[in-house]
Parts: sequence; C-alpha cells; structure tokens
Amino acid sequence: MAKERTLSIIKPDATRRNLTGKINAKFEEQGLRIVAQKRLQLSEVQAGKFYEVHKERPFYGELVSFMISGPVVVQVLEGDDAVAANRKIMGATNPANAEAGTIRKEFAESIEANSVHGSDSLENAKNEISFFFSETEIVG
Ligand code: ADP
Ligand code: MG
Repeated sequence: MAKERTLSIIKPDATRRNLTGKINAKFEEQGLRIVAQKRLQLSEVQAGKFYEVHKERPFYGELVSFMISGPVVVQVLEGDDAVAANRKIMGATNPANAEAGTIRKEFAESIEANSVHGSDSLENAKNEISFFFSETEIVG
C-alpha cells in the first residue's frame, strides 16, 4: 500500500452543528493522520472555482451557496491509500445510500449537506491540496 495524501473539507452543515471533533475522530480511529488543517470562510469565487468540475450540473449554484453558508475546515489527510480510505470513511454521496458507521450515514443532513468533501483521485487530491495549502503548511 502506498502512503498518500488527500484533501478533506468539513462542510458548513457539520461545522454549524459543532461536529469537527467527531468527524476528525473517525479519520484518526481509522488510520488517517491530519497533517494540515485550517478553518475558513470561503468566498463565492473560491467555492465556485473549487467546484468548477460541476459547473454544468443543475445543483452547482446551490452547492456554491451552501459551501459559503458558514465556515468550513479544510484539511490534508495522510495514510495508506488515503484517497480511497477517506472515500470509504466518508460513505456514499447520498446519506440514504451510505454504509453504517460512515460519516455521511451518521452525520449528513441531505445529498447536498453531506458533511464532508474528499478528493476522488490521487491527481485531483494533489490539485485540491495545492488549492488550499502551501508545502510548508503540511507537516507529516
Ligand atoms: P462526492 O462529494 O461524493 O464526491 P460529487 O462530486 O458527485 O459527490 O458531488 C459534489 C457535491 O455536490 C456533493 O458532495 C454534494 O454536496 C453535492 N451534490 C451532489 N449531487 C447532488 C444532487 N443531486 N443534489 C444536490 N447536491 C448534490
Ligand atoms: Mg466529488
């Protein structure tokens, strides 16, 4: 197994309900290490750029509004196969389809307000990490 890094975002629905610690415990208990973390209020421009791949999807405008509706916690998670491992810990996009014990099953409010973002490939992880962090802010 290869050691990887992936980008995670604790979304506004979760920060609003004070769930940062409970979500971080899921990562740590399942072998991922939080090697960078900061709490931010995203601007509309930043959120729009981050989710640019979804620009043509009908929910894009609402997704951007949701992502700027409160603070987020952006973080870099490190561990064995971290990209796939994090996706497993997160659970399916729609909490109704997420497995028991996953973050989205336990905490998500809806398919949109689903508590966490996680990179979906190693290449995207690299781009998403550099969107938010410089190398010196990541300490493994
Ligand atoms: P994931 O976050 O699981 O990788 P996607 O990349 O497909 O899922 O979608 C990005 C985000 O857009 C989701 O996490 C969710 O917040 C939102 N989203 C996805 N599908 C829908 C939908 N059908 N309606 C509203 N919001 C959605
Ligand atoms: Mg995605």
